[in-house]
Amino acid sequence: MDPSDESSGNIRVVCRFRPLNEKEKLIEESVCVTFDPDNRTVAIKSEGEPQRFSYDYVFNPSTPQAQIYQIGARPIIDAIMQGFNGTVFAYGQTSSGKTFTMTGVLGDKNLMGIIPRMVGDVFSKILNSDSHIEFSVKVGYCEIYMEKIKDLLEPSKNNLKIHEDKIRGVFIEDLTERYVSSEEEVFELMNIGTSNREVGYTHMNAGSSRSHSIFCVTLSQTNSLDFSTKTGKLYLVDLAGSEKVGKTGAEGKRLEEAKNINKSLTALGQVINALTDGKSSHVPYRDSKLTRVLQDSLGGNSKTALIITCSPSAYNEAETVSTLRFGIRAK
Ligand code: ADP
Ligand code: MG
Repeated sequence: MDPSDESSGNIRVVCRFRPLNEKEKLIEESVCVTFDPDNRTVAIKSEGEPQRFSYDYVFNPSTPQAQIYQIGARPIIDAIMQGFNGTVFAYGQTSSGKTFTMTGVLGDKNLMGIIPRMVGDVFSKILNSDSHIEFSVKVGYCEIYMEKIKDLLEPSKNNLKIHEDKIRGVFIEDLTERYVSSEEEVFELMNIGTSNREVGYTHMNAGSSRSHSIFCVTLSQTNSLDFSTKTGKLYLVDLAGSEKVGKTGAEGKRLEEAKNINKSLTALGQVINALTDGKSSHVPYRDSKLTRVLQDSLGGNSKTALIITCSPSAYNEAETVSTLRFGIRAK
């Protein structure tokens, strides 16, 4: 199969393993996974028979950012240019590589993640397009924390509502959106937004985010010959950590956060499941803010990439298996 081919339908599920971190390297019997040479299957070595999981693509720990982008997300750009919507998600436990995959190191050619690469490609497509097409690009950045939507570009707006009308479809009312004309401007907005995120302590990763962050790019075009217009919307979502409560020692507020995260990730799984199983007539978008916000960009003509991120360490085996199962249900 050509990995960048789109025949696998509107939802692609790919799986990425990061390298062992320093702490994990110290554990004897450190790695619990093996990768099949077909680039589609990963096996977990447990005591009995290895459990195997297959996806549209499996990236081993040495896969560079550029390849994740090419195979996992780039095909969605074409849909956006044609006026369709798209979504890219990163799903996995805290410190499995979601933010590295989505954002990476801004401005670093090798280490930058999917968001800056997509933005760069959008601007270069605009530069190379017919001169009778006029483009505009605007971006918004928000997070969903405890089922509340906060505007990361104007953090005083911390309880935005979701609306729906005939022209715009489903949208976040009053979300700040800024017109941008260069990658640098986008990076600056990303940095501002990221510094406004809610961060919480867990025992696993001090800076871990307990919220879902959604970076949204709207590309509009007008054809000056026939005055036709097209708009494509791209949602780039760095989900909250999917780990079970027990391991992170949550109580009080942390426990409430965990319940909200669990609820919205379950809702996301159910929506994707309903879209992919081919027999559900009802897609439960309204079960969480996350799925409701993304309603117009999941299903229909939209293109979706779900990137599940995992640690290869035996220490994280239970969470890795849970993440791999989420990815299977989404196929
Ligand atoms: P998450 O967002 O899922 O909590 P991060 O993306 O912050 O996890 O990753 C945790 C740490 O591991 C970070 O220091 C990050 O730079 C590093 N990391 C994650 N994925 C990779 C990778 N594929 N290659 C190298 N380092 C990585
Ligand atoms: Mg993160």
